[in-house]
Amino acid sequence: MIPYGKQFIGDEDIQAVVEVLHSDWLTTGPKVEEFEKAITGYTGSQYAVAVSNGTAALHCAMYAIGIKPGDEVIVPAMTFAATANCVVFQGGTPVFVDVLPDTLLIDPAEVEAKISARTKAVIAVDYAGQPCDYDSLRVIADKHKLTLVADACHALGAKYKERPVGSLADLNVFSFHPVKHITTGEGGLISTNNESYAQRMRIFRSHGITTDHRQREVQGSWFYEMIDLGYNYRITDFQCALGISQLRKLRKWIDRRQIIAHRYDEAFQKMAGIEPLGKIDHISHAYHLYIIRIGEEVLKMKRQDIFTRLRGAGIGVNVHYIPVHLHPFYKNNFHTGLGLCPNAEAAHEQIISMPMYPALSNEEQDHVIDCLRKIVS
Ligand SMILES: *Cc1c(COP(=O)(O)O)cnc(C)c1O
Repeated sequence: MIPYGKQFIGDEDIQAVVEVLHSDWLTTGPKVEEFEKAITGYTGSQYAVAVSNGTAALHCAMYAIGIKPGDEVIVPAMTFAATANCVVFQGGTPVFVDVLPDTLLIDPAEVEAKISARTKAVIAVDYAGQPCDYDSLRVIADKHKLTLVADACHALGAKYKERPVGSLADLNVFSFHPVKHITTGEGGLISTNNESYAQRMRIFRSHGITTDHRQREVQGSWFYEMIDLGYNYRITDFQCALGISQLRKLRKWIDRRQIIAHRYDEAFQKMAGIEPLGKIDHISHAYHLYIIRIGEEVLKMKRQDIFTRLRGAGIGVNVHYIPVHLHPFYKNNFHTGLGLCPNAEAAHEQIISMPMYPALSNEEQDHVIDCLRKIVS
């Protein structure tokens, strides 16, 4: 089976983890800060807070900006459920907006149309690894005094007008799940230039308590105070050691993802009815996903049939995503449903995520392309 995404763990990664397992600190130790620093070096942001997963990171971001019941946060319909769930965790209301039909990135005009007196923030998702239109989103956010949050879980290593993802929004969220660009097993992180957000999130990730175990040890003190309701969203030192080691390979891996994307682009140019997603100018794409649209009318075939036959051929294709507003939880609790975001709904019927990960060989990729060619011809 050739999956749609897959991690790569090298001997040096294993060595880095083993060293920490032999050390004094398994959690709340020095590797957490070292990983955070390494990421800020990459994203050009001043602060980074590493946490247990990307969903926790999104929750931290919503806490940092003080989302509470009655507040609205604008989210795109075409994303993973966690992008909207984090708003609900804080008692807020996610307001779904449609995506642009070509790129499936959040539509700035739709964002502006859905702003109300209760709107506090916008979460932009760098879908598939392509940064959103941050210049337009920034103008809208500033005009309406909203916080701009990037769910950049697809886009570590991407750039927008030569600026790295991770410094484009007020808070930028990453995931280190094994299918993402680098992995810590489970893991997440928020990057920001706002010191007070960073401080709030450090407290939130550890029960709402003001000092961590290591700080208390340094101070020789047992005193701590819980100043707000927090969670245990900490990440371990051995996970961070893995992250530090993986991050060294990120540049090379992004380059490889771009080569794979280019090879797909060339192959699909010659295949009627297979359309890659649109690309915008002045960006460097991180290609978390490589997504094609199936032209059912051109091919006289159903997307579902193509999907099933690819799976049958041992190719682990996938669909990202079912629009969030169509999940029963949102239909039942937020009265969403079909018709709310037509572009996302239409795209969901057409898209397939093809295998895309740095270790995918040219031979494996050619095999994937051949299988698809045979199925559609
Ligand atoms: C992966 C992902 C998340 C959640 O990250 P986890 O680490 O799995 O919790 C959130 N948003 C998007 C867009 C993602 O791709």
